[in-house]
Amino acid sequence: MSNSKTWTNWAGTAECHPRAYHSPNSEKELQAIVKEALKTDKTIRVSGSGHSFTKLVETNSILISLENWRGIMEIDGSYAKVRSGTQLKFLGERLYEEGLAQENLGDIDVQSVAGAFSTGTHGTGVEFGTLSTQLTEITFINGKGELITCSETQEPEIFKAAQISLGALGIITRMTLKCVPKYILELKNIKGDFNECLSKLEEYNQENRNFEFYYFPYTETVQMKISNITQGEPKKGGVLKYLNDIVLENGAFKLVSEISRIFPSQSKKMSQLVGALVGESQRKTWSHEVFATTRLVRFTEMEYNIPKEHFETCIREIKQKIEKEQYELHFPIECRFVKADDIFLSPAYQRESAYIAIHMYKGMPYKKYFQDMEEIFKKYQGRPHWGKLHNRTPKELQVLYPQWHKFHSIRKRMDPNGVFMNDYLKKVLGDV
Ligand SMILES: Cc1cc2nc3c(=O)[nH]c(=O)nc-3n(C[C@H](O)[C@H](O)[C@H](O)COP(=O)(O)OP(=O)(O)OC[C@H]3O[C@@H](n4cnc5c(N)ncnc54)[C@H](O)[C@@H]3O)c2cc1C
Repeated sequence: MSNSKTWTNWAGTAECHPRAYHSPNSEKELQAIVKEALKTDKTIRVSGSGHSFTKLVETNSILISLENWRGIMEIDGSYAKVRSGTQLKFLGERLYEEGLAQENLGDIDVQSVAGAFSTGTHGTGVEFGTLSTQLTEITFINGKGELITCSETQEPEIFKAAQISLGALGIITRMTLKCVPKYILELKNIKGDFNECLSKLEEYNQENRNFEFYYFPYTETVQMKISNITQGEPKKGGVLKYLNDIVLENGAFKLVSEISRIFPSQSKKMSQLVGALVGESQRKTWSHEVFATTRLVRFTEMEYNIPKEHFETCIREIKQKIEKEQYELHFPIECRFVKADDIFLSPAYQRESAYIAIHMYKGMPYKKYFQDMEEIFKKYQGRPHWGKLHNRTPKELQVLYPQWHKFHSIRKRMDPNGVFMNDYLKKVLGDV
């Protein structure tokens, strides 16, 4: 245990000064910490790699980091049992050495497995659910200090709650994932027209393994990102790094963002400049290297899941609102597509989904823009991404999540004394 230290998240939107900080390297140690917290009336939060934008991790009591609880424990055929502090990047590299891969991933791979899965992290592709659908078994230490293992067949209801749990059921220690044989993806970044992209949306989604696009505010431009499995040798390519790759991953975008921050009135022009300069590129390599991108520019983000059938109307309304309100904004809007699942707190619960993500450069005002967009998302039964900024209350959320009460009864059974609750969770989940 070390003395109090400051913890902050990647985006700088959450910060805390825990009274005690632990980074144990065994489940026994973790159980002892929980039992001690129970006895002394303390609370516990666990941090992953701090890539959530919300205040999920904040605590002034005990903070646990699983930086010493990493690595693959076992690979059995296509199943990998992983310690929960393992970074997705490390997991991808190790699986690759074993001839395996995750079937899908989000944009980055620096998150811990437990952190990523606990907030419903997702990638894109109508054939793929959120990352949590890759899980087949979860082991966690509940609020009584007990080690609980659950799966589709063992304690299936606890499993459905634990697949996306915001860290509210306990400390996840092991996760088993179903993997697929390793594969090469060919990624194409293609510049396109907003209306044309929307008119061919179904085609793009059906004909490609992974399809998404970025829309550049104040323009008619989109950049589509399309990946499909291919054979042959990996070829990195993409020598032209300027704005030809995905904008958010690009060094030049940092400069554009600084100009927008210092001269906010130039943001619209900057968005138009980025839209005009965006180009095309392609590369072909192993899947884990294609999905993972480096984020050179820090930002704040709100992302909503809406039913896929409302996507076109919703994104058109967003475009119109931006043009009407003239926000000081230069960040593209990311649009992705995800398959329905049956996880209690999954934003994709029982609906084919589209995700729309809005961003603001760190240091630029975002509240009015985010609030206005949230009002639009609400009209389309929007469910917020648990790791990204939103203002929804338990009263609103329980209407959006048919299994809300089931999740809560399991949470109460697993953590009757609220050892894993913090102020933020109380605000979002309520005290049901
Ligand atoms: C640059 C950037 C890009 C992103 N890209 C995507 C994307 O493409 N798709 C997407 O869906 N999301 C994306 N996200 C969001 C991100 O994937 C999630 O917020 C994720 O939860 C972050 O993982 P983490 O390891 O940093 O967890 P943290 O943010 O540290 O923690 C998240 C939650 O998990 C809990 N937790 C962590 N470890 C444990 C454990 N062992 N047991 C119990 N609870 C635990 C924490 O208490 C907290 O509630 C992105 C975020 C950033 C900053």
